[in-house]
Amino acid sequence: MVTVSTLGSHCALQLLKGAKDEGLDTLLVCEKRRLSLYSRFSFIDKIVPVDSFTDILQEPCASEIQDTILIPHGTLISQLDSEKIESIQTPIFGNKYILKWESDRELKEQMMRKADLPVPKAINSPDDIDDMVIVKRQGAAGGKGYFMASTTQEYHTRRKSLIADGVISPDEPLYIQRYVSGVLAYLQFFYSPIRDEVEFFGCDQRHESDIEGISRIPASNQITSSTPSFNVIGNSPLVLRESLLDEAYKMAERFVDAARRLASPGMNGPFCIEGVYDADAKFSAFEFSARIVAGTNIYMNGSPYYNLLFNEPISMGRRICREIKDAIAVNSLKNVIT
Ligand code: AMP
Repeated sequence: MVTVSTLGSHCALQLLKGAKDEGLDTLLVCEKRRLSLYSRFSFIDKIVPVDSFTDILQEPCASEIQDTILIPHGTLISQLDSEKIESIQTPIFGNKYILKWESDRELKEQMMRKADLPVPKAINSPDDIDDMVIVKRQGAAGGKGYFMASTTQEYHTRRKSLIADGVISPDEPLYIQRYVSGVLAYLQFFYSPIRDEVEFFGCDQRHESDIEGISRIPASNQITSSTPSFNVIGNSPLVLRESLLDEAYKMAERFVDAARRLASPGMNGPFCIEGVYDADAKFSAFEFSARIVAGTNIYMNGSPYYNLLFNEPISMGRRICREIKDAIAVNSLKNVIT
């Protein structure tokens, strides 16, 4: 019997419920402070308590998870750098080597360009800022510490204030990108190496504090020297105009193709292309996530688009576990793990 494991955070509930629905055993690595939350759910067969998630690299936790398949999510990426993730001895679902392409801004942009995604322009130096930009930190910081600027001076003022507040460090490299205005959309996909097929799972929007709150404050009351952050608080569903679906699939297929060429064995499993539709319904992709995103939590009982592909409620967590089972059935487990 296969045991699926993950870290207790992000989308752990969806993943382990999906594993149980597929008849697999489940294990959760859980910080002690969150035991009371995760102990509530009967589909979690075993909980391994830890002081910190970095304990998965050490004994006794490393042995506890050794014979499982670990599902990576955003918390794994934010807690462990890519080298440490690659050093994990437990088999990881999907491609652990592609995760560094998500964490490193330059690699990320390279991958998106290779996939011919319409990426907003990167600004190489703060001195070149001549229009509204968004300034981002490295890695999956969840939008915390991001800021916007329209001039070089504004950039420096805001950066200094974030350093003074201890949000970013003085030597932290920041990534500057043209700000694109429009409807934000986070397009969620699954690529099955077993079926060699891209599936569109769904789409979500993120609610980010405190940028979202600012639209509720009249411009005259907004404090312009503050640095609103893009800290994700939750997600809600979005259904795209059907005429946009074809291009969404094509972008995802180009992405899978680029990933195969740049980061072997490619973009196996769930991923997300994140961006903005402008007034002409033209998409600009500012990000990708090379693993399950927390926005899939809104479809724990299946998504509208998976309803078209499967005649049963399939969450993204369950889809992952179905892929593990399908791979085992055709003796190809090694093709869905690294
Ligand atoms: P990211 O970490 O790149 O996903 O960005 C966090 C949030 O910043 C996004 O969810 C958007 O709200 C916003 N954002 C990022 N890049 C852009 C951009 N180029 N134009 C407009 N908004 C952006």
